[in-house]
Amino acid sequence: MARCSVCGAPAVAYIRYQRRYLCREHYLEFVEEKVRRAMEKYRMVGKGYRVLVALSGGKDSAALLGALASLREKLGYELVAIHIDLGIYEYSVRSREAAERLAEKLGVPLIVVPLKEVLGATIPELAKLSGRPPCSVCGMVKRYVTNAAAVELEADALALGHNADDLAVYNLKSFLNQDLEAISKLGPKTESVPGVAVGRIRPLYTVYEKESFLYAYLKGLPFVHEDCPFVENQQMERQLKEVVNRLEEERPGTKVQLVTKLALRIRDYPRPRGEIRRCKACGLIASGDLCALDRLTLRIFGEPRGPRIREWIRERARELGLIPRRAAPAPAS
Ligand code: SF4
Ligand code: ZN
Repeated sequence: MARCSVCGAPAVAYIRYQRRYLCREHYLEFVEEKVRRAMEKYRMVGKGYRVLVALSGGKDSAALLGALASLREKLGYELVAIHIDLGIYEYSVRSREAAERLAEKLGVPLIVVPLKEVLGATIPELAKLSGRPPCSVCGMVKRYVTNAAAVELEADALALGHNADDLAVYNLKSFLNQDLEAISKLGPKTESVPGVAVGRIRPLYTVYEKESFLYAYLKGLPFVHEDCPFVENQQMERQLKEVVNRLEEERPGTKVQLVTKLALRIRDYPRPRGEIRRCKACGLIASGDLCALDRLTLRIFGEPRGPRIREWIRERARELGLIPRRAAPAPAS
């Protein structure tokens, strides 16, 4: 039986690119240390920060919240979580249940936004009403709701569970489409725009998908094992994932090298052009008179529904005693 390279206990994992075996305890420590180093290197958080974590109910957001909860005392930030019930049949029922159990287990206050109730339609319904693919509407709604929650909660950062595999694939897809502006947003963090948008951080930036799965599993964190039924539609991503996996197989470390090199050059990629505006309906970030969510809801319901979402989140945050917020953060150092 293989033994842990640190303590000699029975090993549960082999880290191929480091050629070492680790037991459960040292494996959890190894992943948390990776997350801590990435957060420090890219100055993602500072003492007193309020970090809002987007929980999908899947393994990556479970690993993200698990690692952030383990590091919270050491790094001195506060955690709040948000889950969006997308209304995607049984998948959403199970995801919501997992997110609620996870937040409770880790002692993190959670705000759940049920789309059907708050917005008046689920993702499959919005896709039908708008004539857009489900993933395109879903991506836009998730960006809107998580940002609205971060602004309402006066969070200093919004943490996303993207791992190195996801980022390598998004990066290649954007490169193949020559969407260089999209690449400019794929770094370890993006900056806040006061009052309208909260900066995003990716603490799992250098963590592989397999590592995040094993971490969540070994730590006993609740998560849904199945994928969203619409993931089938993401054909290009699936093919690129196979390519990246083959490269990683032949050259261990490729995915992490790709994302860390991107982080070094991120400022060389063009940022979205045009001035940053404030949506006339909801007050959040927009590229025109209205933000994307208010444009869509105005078109299909005859009224912009961003303000309803903001109000819903504000009420839940008040009930949980999260606003008004008291402590001010120290700058990330
Ligand atoms: Fe949303 Fe598409 Fe992801 Fe499903 S696969 S959660 S519809 S983005
Ligand atoms: Zn708006």
